[in-house]
Amino acid sequence: MSVFDHPEFDHHEAVHFFDHPASGLRAIIAVHSTALGPAAGGCRYWQYDVSGDALTDVLRLSRGMTFKNAVAGLPFGGGKAVILKEPSASKSPELLRAYGRAVESLGGLYVTAEDVGMSVEDMRVVQSETRYVSGLPQSGSAAGGDPSPWTALGVYLGIEAAVRARLGRDTVGGLKVAVQGVGHVGFHLCKLLYEAGAELFVADVSRENLKKVAAAIPVTEVTPRDILFADVDVLSPCALGNVLNSETIPRLKATVIAGAANNQLSVEDDGDRLVERNILYAPDYVINAGGIISVAREFFEEGSEEEVRADVNRIPERLDTIFRESADSGRATNRIADDLARRLVAAGRPDTRQIA
Ligand code: NAD
Repeated sequence: MSVFDHPEFDHHEAVHFFDHPASGLRAIIAVHSTALGPAAGGCRYWQYDVSGDALTDVLRLSRGMTFKNAVAGLPFGGGKAVILKEPSASKSPELLRAYGRAVESLGGLYVTAEDVGMSVEDMRVVQSETRYVSGLPQSGSAAGGDPSPWTALGVYLGIEAAVRARLGRDTVGGLKVAVQGVGHVGFHLCKLLYEAGAELFVADVSRENLKKVAAAIPVTEVTPRDILFADVDVLSPCALGNVLNSETIPRLKATVIAGAANNQLSVEDDGDRLVERNILYAPDYVINAGGIISVAREFFEEGSEEEVRADVNRIPERLDTIFRESADSGRATNRIADDLARRLVAAGRPDTRQIA
C-alpha cells in the first residue's frame, strides 16, 4: 500500500523515512501541517510489532499535534517522529546523533522534543546535531526544560474542570482516580492529585515506575489489565493510545475520562460511544497541551516559567467551552474539538481567544 493511501494519511505535507545502518537508526518524521508555523511534536522511541504500526502511529500523532498546537494558540504546525526500537539494539549516543542529523536535514520544517521513551538527557545528545530541538533545561527562570511536569499540571487542571462539569464538584478531594501509566507525566500527575486529596489507583507495566510512585505517595496498585475498568470516579489514561474503543467503553465505570495519553480514542465514533454512556471525555490534545506550551516558549525564547504557568492555566477554559457545547448539542467532545482545530488551521491564525 502506498503511504498516500494509508487510512491515517490525511493530507500530510511530508513523510520522511530515515535508515542509517551504521548507528541502527530507523525513524519516520511526519509533517502534517506547517500552516501555523514549523511542525512541532515529540519523538517517540518504541518497539513496534510491525513497522506498519510505526507509520500508523506517527501519522496519527502528527495530525494530533496540528490540532493540539492550533487549539493551544501556538505558532506551531503539527509533526511527530518515531524511532523504531530494535529488540537487540540500544538507544546509543550514535543513534541519537543520527536522529539529530535527520531532524537538522529538514532545515527547520520539524522541531523535535521528548515523547514516550525519550528523556531530557537524550535530547541533549540530539541537540549536538540540530538547532531544531526543544525540551532542554534553561538557565534561571527562562521557560523550558522537561515538558512533562507542565503536561501533568494541565491534565490536573483539566481533571478539575471535567469533575466540575460532570460531577458538579469543585475539587478532586475525596474522589477515586485511576491513573494508567505512571511514567514522566503520570508520576507528576499522581502527586498533584494526592496533594488535592484524591484517592489513587495506579497501574504500569514497569515495576520500576510503580515502585517510584509508591515510594513517593500512598497508591493502590491495580493490574494493567484491570485499570481501565476500575470502580473509580475519574480514569486518567497516561500510557499509550487506543485505550478507548468498542471493546473497552462498555466496561468502563468512571464517568470522567481525562488523561495525558495521545490518541486515546481508537476511532472518532468512540467519542459518540462515550456520550451514549454519559461519560465525559476531555479531548486528549486539548488537556495535554501543557508540555508543548512550554516547548514553544523555550523554542521561540519567549518568556518565563511564570508565563508558561499562565498559559497552562488557560487549558480548563478551553475544556469548559467544549464541555458546554457538548452538553448543549449532545455532540461528542472530540468532534467539537476537531472542528475547532480545523477552523483555526484553515484560518491560518494561531489564536484561540475567540473561544475563551
Ligand atoms: P512515559 O514513557 O514516561 O510513561 C508512560 C508510562 O506508561 C510508562 O511508565 C510505561 O511503562 C507505561 N505503560 C505502557 N504501557 C502500559 C500499559 N499497557 N498499562 C500501564 N502502563 C503502561 O511517557 P510520558 O511522557 O509520561 O507520556 C505518557 C503519555 O502522555 C503518552 O501517550 C504521551 O504521548 C502523552 N503525552 C506526553 C507529554 C509529555 O510532556 N511527556 C505531552 C503530551 C502527551
